[in-house]
Amino acid sequence: MGLKIWLDGKLVDQEDAKISVFDHGLLYGDGVFEGIRIYNGHVFELDAHIRRLYESAKAIRLAIPISSEELTGAVRETVEANGLSDGYIRLVVTRGAGTLGLNPFICKRSSIFIIADKIQLYPEELYEKGMKIISATTVRNHPLAIPPQAKSLNYLNNILAKIEALDSNVPEAIMYNHEGYVAEATGDNVFIVKDGVIFVPPVEAGALPGITRNIVIKLAQKENLQVVEKNLTRFDLYVCDEFFLTGTAAEVIGIVEIDGRMIGDGRPGPITCLLRKKFFEYAHGKEK
Ligand code: PMP
Repeated sequence: MGLKIWLDGKLVDQEDAKISVFDHGLLYGDGVFEGIRIYNGHVFELDAHIRRLYESAKAIRLAIPISSEELTGAVRETVEANGLSDGYIRLVVTRGAGTLGLNPFICKRSSIFIIADKIQLYPEELYEKGMKIISATTVRNHPLAIPPQAKSLNYLNNILAKIEALDSNVPEAIMYNHEGYVAEATGDNVFIVKDGVIFVPPVEAGALPGITRNIVIKLAQKENLQVVEKNLTRFDLYVCDEFFLTGTAAEVIGIVEIDGRMIGDGRPGPITCLLRKKFFEYAHGKEK
């Protein structure tokens, strides 16, 4: 049996969940989205995701045609209709069907759809052994071009960096901003540890304000670990003691090599493992 998709106010069968070829989401990547986890039947950090979605929409002058309360209800309804207790939700708002011109204001009504499905996980081995990555040559979007804080449907910047990673036979790449500072990975935020202190690039360096990032920072502080937001260079990544990425899909994953430089002793470090464990407990320990 296929999935039930929430599309513009109704739950429909997967085969009937269709979007116009004139939708500017498809024609121009004009729209916004969220990726959200379901843990133990609980939609993880739904309020934070809904808030970020409305902020992304505001940044691109996209009016979401329903209230955040209605949208929150729609997400829960979709999860229930698909009987999921662990999984992944893709919540998408497109500009809607318009003409072949760029003008977004001709599009009468944006489309909203919600997919709730099982999640494709990275193999457990990757978490145990840690991941090897590279630095991308593709520079992160300039903040005055497409604000990296907005989670828009226009992901070509990240996709070009991802292709560089895949060409090098690794799953992820670090993206640097126009000034050469670390921005983020193609779909995850960056953390490093040096001499017991955790360093994270500020969001203004060109990162999405990751919801996992926020939680991991809080969990680290709860463990009395010092977290410093600071611009990081490629050199900082090369000589750090520990390195990990955070994101909704990847959760907390250790990095053990970048551009052929081994990190620490080549295994995920103790702070990485501690925070991965704390994140797991936090995500799974919540009430329904
Ligand atoms: N950066 C980018 C570019 C992303 O796409 C994501 C994943 N949505 C993240 C960071 C991590 O954000 P979050 O923890 O909210 O999933």
